[in-house]
Amino acid sequence: MTKQPHATTPPDDTGAQRNIGNVPAPRTGRTIGPAQREFFRAIPKVELHCHLLGSVRAATFADLARRHRAPLSTADIDGFYARGARPVGVLHVLRTLERHLLLAPDDFRRIAYEYLEDAAREGVRHAEFFWNPTATLRDSDLAYPVLQAAIVGGMEDAARDLGVSALLIPSIDREATPSEALEMVELMAANRHESVPGIGIDYRETDRPPELFADAYALARRTGLRTTAHAGEFGTSWKNVATALDLLQVERIDHGYSIMDNPDLVARCAERGILFTIVPTNSYYLRTLEPDRWAIDHPIRTMAAAGLKLHPNSDDPSLHQVTPGGAWELMYSHLGFGVADLRAMMLNGVAGSWADPARRAEWQASWPATFDALAAAAEWQPSSLS
Ligand SMILES: [Zn+2]
Repeated sequence: MTKQPHATTPPDDTGAQRNIGNVPAPRTGRTIGPAQREFFRAIPKVELHCHLLGSVRAATFADLARRHRAPLSTADIDGFYARGARPVGVLHVLRTLERHLLLAPDDFRRIAYEYLEDAAREGVRHAEFFWNPTATLRDSDLAYPVLQAAIVGGMEDAARDLGVSALLIPSIDREATPSEALEMVELMAANRHESVPGIGIDYRETDRPPELFADAYALARRTGLRTTAHAGEFGTSWKNVATALDLLQVERIDHGYSIMDNPDLVARCAERGILFTIVPTNSYYLRTLEPDRWAIDHPIRTMAAAGLKLHPNSDDPSLHQVTPGGAWELMYSHLGFGVADLRAMMLNGVAGSWADPARRAEWQASWPATFDALAAAAEWQPSSLS
């Protein structure tokens, strides 16, 4: 492939510059035309790492703010969705949603439906998404079963209308206390639903290590719930990844980048085939790596080279201005993966999903042919295929 070290973001089919996730311009020399963009959008995919509150559309945010008379100006809301040099922290936006905007069951039903509508448009056939009940229970005065039923209702409506399946993953808010985390798992156990198969943990990792929540994970496992955990996300130690695997005994890791600081742990995860749900637009690396080196030095590249199983995701799509198709496109255009690598990642996602085994087997059997037909239609050059 011809080298174009100073390539800029190529124009999209409308002629406008497209900047997925506000990442620096690619340095791979790869250009993306309309046919290739359509390929990234259309490839059949699962999404395993998306936060419901990070998917709220800007227009829905503004509408909910009006309905609930939230103390926010239009400029405040515009600022939440702007990703300039000094963006508002995502956690601040999520806290605002929890405190002022998501107060009625229908608010939750609506944002779940809209997330799945947006995801389905991007080729997502099955989504597993996070929601943190603890702050919602405190701020909304709604009971857990009411909230769970509202979100599951949105998922069922989306399945009926759009053919996209979904699972909800209630997630421990790391700013919560260990007893609040335990209470979340107890509520899940008392309100078991087949569309709510397991737990995660997320939000502020820096001073809230995973061992604080070992009891909640132990209860989840005893109750038959599946487990995943955000770990090694913000430049935080590989020890958090090790603790999530060894003490919390999770089945998959969300992010996990700092694992690259411990080659023995990398080898162990590669051997076990642990799935890492990675996010190419992760804000920590966008903030800390030099723009010229961002996509070259990103640990996602070394994770793959070390034999870890990866699967790309949108994480907070509306706040990070990325879509599921956009996340897959960045893996090719910026992070240098080939089309065959993406095909393997598509299947990694299916294998690591918590959908029932019969459905996974169906996807494993039929998606590769769909992928290959789409790749042929996009006319990838042979040099792109490895
Ligand atoms: Zn996340």
